[in-house]
Amino acid sequence: MHPTTVADYQALVAHSQETHVLASAAATLAWDQETGMPKGGGDLRSRQLEALAAMVHQRSTDPRIGEWLQACESDRNLQQESDAAANVRGFRRDYDRATKLPNTLVAELARLESQAQQVWAEARAASDYARFLPSMERMVFLQQQKADCLRGSRSRWDALADLCEPGMNAASLSQLFAPLRERLVALRGQLDARGKRPDDRFSRVPFEESAQESACRAALQAIGFDFDRGRLDRSAHPFCTGSFGDVRLTTRYSKDNVLDALGSAMHEGGHGLYEQGLCAEHMGTPLGEAASLGIHESQSRLWENHVGRSRAFWQWSQPMLRSKLGLEVDGYSADDLWRASNRVEPSLIRVEADELTYDLHVMVRFELEQALLDGSLAAKDLPAAWNAGYRQALGIEVPDDRRGCLQDVHWSCGLFGYFPTYTLGNLYAAQFASAVRRDIPDLDDQHARGDFAPLLAWLRDKVHRHGRRFDPAELCRRATGAALSADPFVAYLEQKLHAVYA
Ligand code: ZN
Repeated sequence: MHPTTVADYQALVAHSQETHVLASAAATLAWDQETGMPKGGGDLRSRQLEALAAMVHQRSTDPRIGEWLQACESDRNLQQESDAAANVRGFRRDYDRATKLPNTLVAELARLESQAQQVWAEARAASDYARFLPSMERMVFLQQQKADCLRGSRSRWDALADLCEPGMNAASLSQLFAPLRERLVALRGQLDARGKRPDDRFSRVPFEESAQESACRAALQAIGFDFDRGRLDRSAHPFCTGSFGDVRLTTRYSKDNVLDALGSAMHEGGHGLYEQGLCAEHMGTPLGEAASLGIHESQSRLWENHVGRSRAFWQWSQPMLRSKLGLEVDGYSADDLWRASNRVEPSLIRVEADELTYDLHVMVRFELEQALLDGSLAAKDLPAAWNAGYRQALGIEVPDDRRGCLQDVHWSCGLFGYFPTYTLGNLYAAQFASAVRRDIPDLDDQHARGDFAPLLAWLRDKVHRHGRRFDPAELCRRATGAALSADPFVAYLEQKLHAVYA
């Protein structure tokens, strides 16, 4: 870098780091809203989050950023492979995006997201979509406006999806999803034809919630989650927020579903390991941020499914569960737990879905979201369209909105174009896992004795430490030697589920 540009670059970094401080304060407040805030705090919290979002947005659109960027970009001495160049590319993408959105829209969205999330939680508990409808209508309207600010010649959905996953668009997703859907449905048919499902009695054995929590903590500790730099709490909808030295996970407990609590903890733990594995020296800059939501989800799904639903994992965790949950576990072998955790059954709730039907849930939402944004589906008609989608994709009837279109928090907090990153996450996870198995042939033996460090080291090296240095497609090619494909995912499911059902 030319000496005169160094000052511009340093100004960019310092400005971004200060903005990160404000944004991370908002994230902690949002975490508190879901875990500890009393109901009466809702109004003030919405205004706090609105104020912080406005400050963050104002800082992110500061015209000086444009000047600093221009100086850096016109510096011919800037090495394209350098950290600085990678950060400049990230800053440019963020700045161009932010400056397309008016401050008033950003502030109103932040307030509505906080309010609507609270209304959604009540409406879901009461299974009352009518209560949520005014918030949903306003949300769709504002998201359409946001998309129109960003989209240029793209569709609204593509404009919002690109915020979640750089480069993602509906056309390429449809190409990926259509054959995937066929192969999943075919595999489901083969399993159904066996006429017998794995015994899942274990998932209904009642265990004290405190015992479940200590089992979740033990699993998280084993896979390498650092509790000196993170927490585990409970919330209605499990999530992970924060990064570096303060990563907050939540799971949920119901007395008779320890597999759900454990699976959610492993899932959010995978997100948390990614955040703890980002390079601390780059905190507050693009190199210190996750590559994309799809890559983020690959980390959660890898730990939840490729590890947490593997035979080897249950060989290690059966005795662990015995010590945390008590004698009841004695009646179940590691293989019993493995089979119970891999039972395939079309169900109503996405977050509880098995690995085979999970992506069918995502595909339903993918279609509905596009229709909501392009205006061909009105918010008031969402429940009927949702129920029709489930009938067609999963062959099940949705009995009420609580288990239908009110089940997910996403739309209430303004996340549109997000759901397909879950399926991309599954595909990336399978491709990473198959590359890991090439590099570490005795992975299962390691996991069976509770040694997850080599896997974590591989992920740190190939994924975590790079931050946003590469776009998701490039990161995948570098880590696995190939472009993203659905083949490793389908091959993995076929191999595992045929074994589980044998
Ligand atoms: Zn996730």
